[in-house]
Amino acid sequence: MIKMKDVYKKYTNGVVAANGLNVQIAPGEFVYVVGPSGAGKSTFIKMMYREEKPTSGEIYIDGTNLATLKNREVPFVRRKLGVVFQDFKLLPKLTVYENVAFAMEVIEAPSDTIRDRVTEVLDLVGLKAKARMLPTELSGGEQQRVSIARSIVNRPKVVIADEPTGNLDPETSWDIMNVFRDINEQLGTTIVMATHNKNIVNRIRHRVIAIEGGLIVRDEAEGVYGYEI
Ligand code: ADP
Ligand code: ADP
Repeated sequence: MIKMKDVYKKYTNGVVAANGLNVQIAPGEFVYVVGPSGAGKSTFIKMMYREEKPTSGEIYIDGTNLATLKNREVPFVRRKLGVVFQDFKLLPKLTVYENVAFAMEVIEAPSDTIRDRVTEVLDLVGLKAKARMLPTELSGGEQQRVSIARSIVNRPKVVIADEPTGNLDPETSWDIMNVFRDINEQLGTTIVMATHNKNIVNRIRHRVIAIEGGLIVRDEAEGVYGYEI
């Protein structure tokens, strides 16, 4: 589903944030990306959704090489990928329903499909009753549920999440992890999640890719991440 081959990234200021990444992620996998601050986790994740381009190397998402992709083709790849951020990135003036529908409107989906799918994913994340509310009327955990609903509404094969529980309290973080588990198990969506949350990584076991200094230093099925705090 995802393949990186000799991926190297040097920012314009000279920082090398990826120093030869080689990795393969199969359809339906759930993968944690861990490592200290500045290790290159965000760069790794951003290159997967083409927010950043590698300086050299190849990145394939579901058979499409991101490196040779024309800018006008980027929206097509974005359909294969949903993205979830630490700070949710919801549109503040739109309702819950409209935030999720917007992701389908930009790819010009038919309006009856939009209606059905938005209702379906809001139900899946447990927010059907709050469809008419604004993001500011919701808790952090509920806002993250909206953002997860938005990430899956176009039925992508992969969801990329960058510190999705970073702004949430521990209890809410477990709830959000259950939502990701449901998506992975019920829809078969591949999930790649950068996280600092050792408790979560150690208790909900999945493959762990550890990055340090722009290199993959560890890659283990059912891996761990240091000691719990
Ligand atoms: P992490 O997510 O593990 O904290 P990042 O991928 O954000 O790591 O950063 C890796 C390194 O690349 C750091 O030294 C960081 O300062 C640098 N870096 C990240 N983004 C940029 C950028 N846009 N321009 C220059 N340097 C960057
Ligand atoms: P996070 O770890 O939450 O992903 P970062 O602090 O690594 O956030 O980065 C925040 C933003 O600043 C990102 O867009 C990143 O690319 C950019 N950035 C990080 N380090 C640098 C840097 N040294 N120079 C320029 N931009 C940077």
